[in-house]
Order: sequence, then C-alpha cells, then structure tokens
Amino acid sequence: MNVEKTGGRLFGTGKCSGLSGTRQLPMIQKMVESMSQLQEEKGQLQEQLMALQKKLALRESDQQAVSTQLQTQVENLKEKLIGQVQEVNRLRSELGGTDLEKHRDLLMVENERLRQDMKRCEAELQELRARPPPCSECEHSKESAQLREKLAQLQLETEENKSRLAELDLEVHQKTDRLAEVELRLKDSLAEKAEEEERLSRRLRDSQETIATLKAQPQPIKYIIKTVEVDSSKTKQALCETEARNQYLQEQVGMQRQVLKEMEQQLQNSQHTTTQLKAQIMMYESELERAHGQMLEEMQTMEEDKNRAIEEAFARAQVEMKAVHENLAGVRTNLLTLQPALRTLTNDYNGLKRQVRDFPLLLQEALKSAKAEIGQAIEEVNNTNRELLRKYRRELQLRKKCHNELVRLKGNIRVIGRVRPITKEDGDGSEAANAVTFDSDDDAVIHLLHKGKSVSFELDKVFPPHATQQDVFQEVQALITSCIDGYNVCIFAYGQTGAGKTYTMEGTVENPGINQRALQLLFSEVQEKSSDWEYTITVSVAEIYNEALRDLLGKEPQEKLEIKLCPDGSGQLYVPGLTEFKVQSVEDINRVFEFGHTNRTTEYTNLNEHSSRSHALLIITVRGTDYSTGLRTTGKLNLVDLAGSERVGKSGAEGSRLREAQYINKSLSALGDVISALRSRQGHVPFRNSKLTYLLQDSLSGDSKTLMLVQVSPVEKNTSETLCSLKFAERVRSVELGPGSRRAELMSWSSQEHLEFEGSLVQTPSSARSYSSSSSGTPISRSSSIRRKLQTSGKMKPVPV
Ligand code: ADP
Ligand code: MG
Repeated sequence: MNVEKTGGRLFGTGKCSGLSGTRQLPMIQKMVESMSQLQEEKGQLQEQLMALQKKLALRESDQQAVSTQLQTQVENLKEKLIGQVQEVNRLRSELGGTDLEKHRDLLMVENERLRQDMKRCEAELQELRARPPPCSECEHSKESAQLREKLAQLQLETEENKSRLAELDLEVHQKTDRLAEVELRLKDSLAEKAEEEERLSRRLRDSQETIATLKAQPQPIKYIIKTVEVDSSKTKQALCETEARNQYLQEQVGMQRQVLKEMEQQLQNSQHTTTQLKAQIMMYESELERAHGQMLEEMQTMEEDKNRAIEEAFARAQVEMKAVHENLAGVRTNLLTLQPALRTLTNDYNGLKRQVRDFPLLLQEALKSAKAEIGQAIEEVNNTNRELLRKYRRELQLRKKCHNELVRLKGNIRVIGRVRPITKEDGDGSEAANAVTFDSDDDAVIHLLHKGKSVSFELDKVFPPHATQQDVFQEVQALITSCIDGYNVCIFAYGQTGAGKTYTMEGTVENPGINQRALQLLFSEVQEKSSDWEYTITVSVAEIYNEALRDLLGKEPQEKLEIKLCPDGSGQLYVPGLTEFKVQSVEDINRVFEFGHTNRTTEYTNLNEHSSRSHALLIITVRGTDYSTGLRTTGKLNLVDLAGSERVGKSGAEGSRLREAQYINKSLSALGDVISALRSRQGHVPFRNSKLTYLLQDSLSGDSKTLMLVQVSPVEKNTSETLCSLKFAERVRSVELGPGSRRAELMSWSSQEHLEFEGSLVQTPSSARSYSSSSSGTPISRSSSIRRKLQTSGKMKPVPV
C-alpha cells in the first residue's frame, strides 16, 4: 500500500519536469517508459516481497509450531526419563532372574520325588506303629520313639523348605515377568526415541535447507531493496525487522540444537544406566542361582539325614518285629495250653447258665418258704412278746413285793445328821467355839463335847459343815426318785432354830436346797421315761401353825383347812380346798415358791420368827400311767421344814409364845410317837395326835419311806439343844432293829417328856438304845399281826399292778 502511494508521487513529479522542455520529449518518454517499467518492476518486487513476507510469516509460524512441538517432546522425554529412572530403581530393589524358571522346575521335580519318598516312609511308619509294642520299656522302643521324633522334625523342616521353595518360585516368576515387561518397555521407548530423533533431525535438516534457500535468495532482493530503499525507508525498516526476526529464529534453532544435544546426552546417559541395570540384574540372577544351589545342597543333606533316619528306624523296627514274632510264638504256645482250661470254663459257664435259667423258679420257692418262715417267726415273736409282757408285769409285782420286803428289812426310816458351819451370827469367844467332831473312819458317827464330856452318837450318816447342798441331795435322791415308782416319801428337817433346816430344804437362790433339786430331778426322770410313761407333777404348799393347816397357794391363806376322809370309803385322806399346781419346768417351781413366800410374808409381820414357829410343807404328787400296761401309779413327796425344836423354859414363856411352844412340842412329840409306833409295828399309830402326822398319815405308813434330817449347830452355846436333837435322832433310828430282833423298846415322846427333857441326864448312845418305854412297849410277837392290820387298814397306798 505504502509502496503504491510512493509510486504515485514519483509519477506526479515526473509530469511537471516534462512540461519544462519539448525537446526532451523522447527522453522523457523513455524515462516514462523506464519509469513505468520500473513501476512495473517495483510492483512485481512488491508482490514478491509480499509473497516473501507471507512465506516468512508462514515459516515463522511453522518454526514456532516446531519449537513448541520440540518443547513438548523434550518435556515428554524428560517425563519418560524420570519414569525409566524410577523403573530402574524399582528393578534395582527387586531381584529377578530369567533362569530361575529352570531351577524352579528342577526343584519341583525334586520335591515331588521327596514327597513320594516321604509318603512311603509314612506308610511304613504307620505299619510299624500299628504293630503291638513287643516290649514297652526296652531300649529299642525308646530309640524308635526318638527316631520318630527326629523324623517328625525332619518332616517339619522339609515342609518348611517346601513352602520356602514355593515362595521363592513364585517370586522368581513374578520377577521374570516384570523383567520381561521392563525390557519390552525399554525397547519400545528406545525405538520411540530413535524415531523421534530421526524425525527431529529430518526436520532440522529441512529447516536448515529452507533457511539456506532463504539465505541464498536475498541477492536480487537486496538490489531491489537498495533501489526501493531510496523510495521507502519503511520497507527498509520492515526488512530490518524481518532480518532481526530471522536472526532470532536462527538463534532459536541453535538453542533447539543445543537442547537436542543435551537430550542426546541424556539419552546416552539413560542407555548407560540401562546397561548398568542389566549388569546388576545379571549379578542378581547369579546370586539367586547361588542361593538356589545352596538350598538344593541343604535339601540334599536333609534328604540324606531323612533317609538315614528312616533306615535306622527300619532296622530297629525289624529287630522289634523279630522280638514281637518271638513273643507271638510264646503266646501261641500259651494259647495251646489254655485251650483245655477254656473248654472246662465253657462247660462251667454252660452249667451256670442253666442254673441262672432255673434261678427265678428257685427264688420264688425260696421266697415262698422264707415268707412262711418269717410269718411263723413273727407269730413266735408275738407270742414271746405277749409272754414277756406277762412276765414283765409279774416281775413288776415281784419287784414291788421285794422292794417292800427290802424296805421292811432295811427299815424305811433313815436318820441323817447335818452340822452347819459356824457363822458370823454365832458371834465369837468361847460360846462360839466348836463343840462337834467327827470320826474320820466312820461317817455315821458324831462326837459332841457337852459340859466337858464327849458324847458320841451313831446315825445313818452325818454330814460335816463342809458338805455341800449337792452332797446332801445325792444322799436323798434315790428316795425322791422312788416316788416316781409310786412310793410315798417324807423328808423332815428337824432341829433347833438356826441349825440350818431352811437352808437344807430351801437353800438360797445361788445354791438351792432339796426342794428345788428334787423337783428338777423329778422332771428329768419323768422326761427320760416319757417314751413309756405319762406323768403329771403337781405341787401344794402348806403350813401348820398352832395346829392350824393353811394353804399357802390358796386365794385366802389365812383360812384354816380341814383334813377329811375320802367319801369313797377307800380310807384315804384329803384336804378339801388345798391348791394343787401342775408344774412342768423350773420356772413353774420358782413361781410356785415365790407365790407361797408372798402369801406367808403378807400374812406375818415377823416372818423369821413365824417360820421358826411353824411347819412348812411342800407336797409334790407324781401321777404316772404306763402306756403299754395301762398301769397307774401315784407317789407323794412331802418335804417338811419343821418348826424349831428348841425347848422353851416353863417359866420363860407366857401367853402366845407359850401356846406356840406347846403346839410345837405337841406336834414334834406326835411325830416321834408316830414314827415309834410305825417302827415297832404297833397296832395303833397315833396319827391323829397332831395335824402334821394326820396330814402325812398315808405318807408315813405302809411301804412309805421317811428321812429325818437332823440339823445341828456346832457351837458351844448350842450344845444342850444339839444334844437333844441328836438324842431324838438316835432314838428314831434305834427303834429300827430289823424284823428278827425287833424289840418293843419304844418310848412315848409325850409333849411333857419333850419339854422336860432338858432336866434329864445326858445318855450314851448305848444307853439311849436300851431306853425302854414305860407306856407303850410292844412285844415282838405282835409285829406280824400289826403288819397285817396295816395292810388291811386301807391307809396304805394300793400296790400298783
Ligand atoms: P433354821 O431354818 O434351822 O432356823 P437356817 O436354815 O435359817 O436355820 O440357817 C441359819 C443360818 O445358818 C442361815 O444364815 C443359813 O444361811 C446358815 N446356814 C445353815 N446351814 C448352813 C450350811 N450348811 N452352810 C452355810 N450356811 C448355813
Ligand atoms: Mg428355818
């Protein structure tokens, strides 16, 4: 465009110069023609320039494209190179070998062979094991066991090796595959690179050729440019720029060449690395081969070991087998000898079998006969039992009779003395001095020092001061238990006030006396017999004061009770209104005693005084029924704490005191009379002379038993009373002379005599024994008739049947 404008101006300037001369017309024409020619040439040149410029632009864009392409190729190559380097590294870390396959196959074959060998050995071993051990504890078996263990170990090791081999095989496989893959990839990439290189160098060549042709062209252009330069500086500038661009492109090409060179260098490097890697792979392969060889060697040695072990085991097994065979031969010979025994055993067995078959029948028969026998035996036993029961009843009667006879022979009245210890109340000085001594050889003798003389007395037993409540109870407990058998029993505590009567009968809370102990004993005895007998125990508590009987368990203790004959004509006595408490335990007893005490306490202001002036009675009734025989018994135990036996001087007492003394004297004398009459089997026993004897009539007569506990004080000041008490005791005892020698040496203990006793002389026991009664002496010949009378009088307790 610029070129066209410039041409136009040049044409205008030429027209002006033609007007200045007509002679210069041909020249002008020539010039115009040349000008037009030039103009044409210029146009052509401009067209050529334009085409060149276009070509250049095209080339430029081509070169641009080529350079970007090369850039991307370089990038790709770089990436591939990195990938290959990584691949090489990976390959380096892994071992691989191509020849391992062969080894693997060989090993597999070897392995298969070993497996078969092993199977064979196992089968042999199984066989050996199945055979019975010939000798369990011999050396061979131990060795064999050891060998077996070793074999098992070797098998285990072989198994391990096998698994290791399989692992290695697998690894080799994998590595071989990977190596082949890598080689392929390497080959591919090398081929690609070669191709690429080829292509690039071809292109480079083309470019160089093009550039050379382009360089070769500029001569005419230069000329044109030079001519055009005059006209257009712009064209010049454009050319310059094109040249600069050309220069730049050439530089670019140079750089690309440089890059290409570098890439070639890199390619060479990577090829070098590849060869190195290959060498390494080769090395690894050789190492693998070596390891494989080692493994084979190990396996070989193991195989040898195994074979050796098997051989040894086999040899031992053979030896063992030999021994087993020998044993077998022995057993066979044994078997031959055993056969006859077996035959006899079989015969026996058959015989037994027959017996077993017949057994139920035999059993039935045996059972039948046994049943019959048992029935008969039971019948016999029943008969025997009936007979025994009859005999038992007869024996009971006999026993009772014997007992009665024994009592009659032995005497049913016993007299026991008890000396209380010296107490604070006795004071001190000569008055409180001890006046009682004992015989160490004879516990029935007591010596009393009275007014300077020693007097000795013989009783059934004497308890010294240190005797305990239990000791005393032990002596009387047989008497107490006899009341369970239906006997009537009386136990009297006799003695002056303060001699220990209440202590012996009642005792203290901590140390109870006969009363409580007797009841406890009765409870336990009754309990023991409870399987055969049913018992009830009832208790009455009464007192006799001034010959009046009072019920201490009644609602009105001050009421006087009467003693009456039973209206049934049995001759038995009873006290209407006398309370009877049924007792079953110690608690019951305590309640009863407490109740009795309370009644006594509220009734009298001075209890101590009163109690010493009255007789206290505890009446225990034991009623029993024998379950088997229906026999009924009733026993009565009368425990009597008598009033004080001390004498009251005629002049010293007046009024009520004297009356009390008279009543006491009367009743104690009456008791003595009754006992005397009973002992001497008198026809008349004066029971009615006092309330006490009248009340106790049925407990004193017949086969009843009586115990007189004579309490004495040991101190000097009481010796007179002690003397009286002991004399009373000895007299009671002395009337018991036994049936053959029984004599009517009885004395009447009238109240008058009792009161006047103080004045009488002190007598020796022998003289006391020969003391004869003035009024009621009874000849011995009367004793039998008296007994008859007593037995028929109805006052005796009926003998239980
Ligand atoms: P009684 O009833 O004869 O009048 P007590 O039994 O009341 O006489 O006894 C009078 C005192 O002597 C009481 O203090 C009593 O504790 C005591 N006594 C009696 N006998 C003994 C004995 N064997 N052991 C210890 N103390 C006794
Ligand atoms: Mg008393």
